[in-house]
Amino acid sequence: MLRPFDYYRPADMDEALALLGQGPEAAVLAGGTDLLVKMRRDSRRSPLVVDIKGLEECRGIGWENEHLSVGALTTFNDLLGSGEIREHFPLLIDAARVMGCCEIRQRATLGGNVVNASPGAESGSPLAVLQARVIVRGPQGSRQMPIEDFWQGVGKTALFPGELLTHVLIPRLPPGSRSAYLRRSRVRGMDLASVNVAVVVINPQVSKNRQIRVAMGAVAPMPLRARKVEAMLRGQEITPELLAGMREKIQEGLTPRVTSLRASPEYKKEMVAVLTEMALQRLLKR
Ligand SMILES: Cc1cc2nc3c(=O)[nH]c(=O)nc-3n(C[C@H](O)[C@H](O)[C@H](O)COP(=O)(O)OP(=O)(O)OC[C@H]3O[C@@H](n4cnc5c(N)ncnc54)[C@H](O)[C@@H]3O)c2cc1C
Repeated sequence: MLRPFDYYRPADMDEALALLGQGPEAAVLAGGTDLLVKMRRDSRRSPLVVDIKGLEECRGIGWENEHLSVGALTTFNDLLGSGEIREHFPLLIDAARVMGCCEIRQRATLGGNVVNASPGAESGSPLAVLQARVIVRGPQGSRQMPIEDFWQGVGKTALFPGELLTHVLIPRLPPGSRSAYLRRSRVRGMDLASVNVAVVVINPQVSKNRQIRVAMGAVAPMPLRARKVEAMLRGQEITPELLAGMREKIQEGLTPRVTSLRASPEYKKEMVAVLTEMALQRLLKR
């Protein structure tokens, strides 16, 4: 049952920040697809809900110097409809396509997905591998940080009470770069990822200049870059032996939680290796 709460829809950022400043229990509502589920389950109590959908400052997708700035209120359907995302960051299209269902994609925002900080969230490994940064705004002004510093554990972020996420900044990739996102879930229909992988390949055609970035979701409390694997693959000819080594290395030190409802640690470790190899083969074949 949903407990009674006060609902506000501020018209601008100053009003939103003033409302959020009323206390740590004030909750930001964007699409509401996570927040309302939690409030209905009573796992989150928020007597004051601040609906930020009226904040123009948190909307829009556009280039600012060498970053694509994506407003926190961008929905997953907005991502799917964006020519810039499609052309420059196709892995985000792969991710948006498998996110929930059309009705969820129409409401669910990128900002909500990032702040909800679920380890297997659809935007998690793609934004980690893209080396995205986030801009947050609070009573003291704006601050910026790498997205990997923003996530601090399952459902935990670096946001202080009273702060809002306003934008995600994605650095431009060198021309010719390729990217892909793959996930496995328990069922073919709507389900959260049991495990997911995001891969970026820079200079795919020339192995000595090639850089490969890999990030994984739902194998640790936060999306995780596979930096040792990246170092191993850097500038190398991709051979069956190298891929076999990669499959071993990517599993090293991974300890997915045994209490996951979606998959066993063994399955997750195996699949993270399989999905990374599949993504690499897809990106290097063309
Ligand atoms: C049926 C269903 C299917 C789903 N399928 C998937 C799926 O396949 N993959 C997946 O990753 N997720 C899935 N989800 C989860 C959810 O839809 C996403 O996490 C979504 O992106 C959350 O965005 P939202 O705008 O609805 O967030 P909200 O529910 O509005 O907010 C989520 C959290 O973030 C906070 N918040 C939101 N925006 C901001 C902001 N700008 N600044 C500060 N705090 C903010 C809220 O206070 C809340 O704590 C699903 C949910 C449902 C109900």
